[in-house]
Amino acid sequence: MDFQLTSEQKMLVELADKLGKNEFASKAARWDKNHEYPWENVEIMRQAGLLGMTIPKRFGGRERPLIDVVLVIEQIAKYCGVTARIVVETNMGALGSIMAYGTEAQQKLVAKRILEEGDKPAIGMTEPNAGTDLTALKSTAVQKGDHYILNGTKHWITGGTISNTHLIFARIIDKNGVDQGIGGILVDKGTPGFTFGKIEDAMGLRGIPESELIFEDCEVSEENIVVCDRKEGFKKLMNGYNAQRIGAGTVSLGIAQGAHDLAIEYMKQREAFGKKISEFQGLQWMVAEAEMKLNASRLLLYRAACNAQHLANNVMLPQMMEASIAKAFTAHASFEVVSDSLQMFGAAGYSRDLPLERMLRDVRMFQIGGGTTEAQMNMISRGIFKTRFDYKK
Ligand SMILES: Cc1cc2nc3c(=O)[nH]c(=O)nc-3n(C[C@H](O)[C@H](O)[C@H](O)COP(=O)(O)OP(=O)(O)OC[C@H]3O[C@@H](n4cnc5c(N)ncnc54)[C@H](O)[C@@H]3O)c2cc1C
Repeated sequence: MDFQLTSEQKMLVELADKLGKNEFASKAARWDKNHEYPWENVEIMRQAGLLGMTIPKRFGGRERPLIDVVLVIEQIAKYCGVTARIVVETNMGALGSIMAYGTEAQQKLVAKRILEEGDKPAIGMTEPNAGTDLTALKSTAVQKGDHYILNGTKHWITGGTISNTHLIFARIIDKNGVDQGIGGILVDKGTPGFTFGKIEDAMGLRGIPESELIFEDCEVSEENIVVCDRKEGFKKLMNGYNAQRIGAGTVSLGIAQGAHDLAIEYMKQREAFGKKISEFQGLQWMVAEAEMKLNASRLLLYRAACNAQHLANNVMLPQMMEASIAKAFTAHASFEVVSDSLQMFGAAGYSRDLPLERMLRDVRMFQIGGGTTEAQMNMISRGIFKTRFDYKK
């Protein structure tokens, strides 16, 4: 076991930290205030080679391991959670599933869009009546000749209105009317029959729209099917999603580290009762506890990323149990760290003049999105008691 970063990884960390500090930090409030997507940051990251880092070299990517992406996300999230989420979605999420299970043509297309256009593939799973209980989803893709007719509604889809590429989870019905279980199908923005509905007025991470996607007799070519496998389809899609969970956990870690760093600096300046507030033991212990939580979170996330296996098509996907433990622990711990960091500032921390209140709103999301903490704990329990999840094929 080696806890040291390679010199290449150290350079990557330095690059991401520098971009975060010099380019992203000062603009983070703008995306939040204006509900604006940070296209400027996307272009900076694209040029720096931080989008599509995991994409195989044969498609123009850098074929870097998941841990390298985690290192980058962590640094950027210290300064801008929204921008860090874009690193997640252009390296993990739908991309992982497409690279693991998609066709060569799909892989090539998605790689090109990310690397050349900064496109952020969206992943459409959740429906108004199917969130944690995803197998209750009602969307269907019914085969008709050489295409599928997609019907259904998705909501809370990150960047739905922004993304050109959407990996949509739907129940697939073959041409004989046989239910092939839950599969994944790629749908491009602009496809007739695919429109957008409500954009959520979300509490945090407001620089990326959370969108409703509506499919009404939307005709999609059979060449767009990524996963259709009656026995293993849903399991494959969930395997693909494990990398996204690590990414989400890492954004929360980075936000928490950023808030912690700000609190420490402030404590060294602010005086009360004739001394620096950093001299009060009660506050020192809060900082020490935050430090322990950050260290533990980091180790769990790094372990899950480093232990990722080449599961399918040589794509590295983490183990479910390690990803869930890392995500659930970090999301919870990070929220506490940001809340305690804000506390160090007193009233100033509650003002929009400082980034703490935004960081607290942003970090709260990670106990919900990417699978709730309770859903992760169910998965961890299933791992402990070796109980099988009924995928309700
Ligand atoms: C900012 C944001 C971005 C998102 N982005 C995406 C995206 O890009 N794509 C996408 O598909 N979805 C996305 N989601 C949706 C997200 O995945 C769901 O919100 C999440 O899975 C929970 O589903 P739900 O909201 O329907 O809650 P529900 O499933 O209705 O859960 C309600 C509560 O019950 C608990 N609960 C439910 N079942 C159990 C159980 N068996 N045991 C114990 N507790 C349980 C939950 O933990 C929760 O506390 C996003 C959500 C947010 C907030």
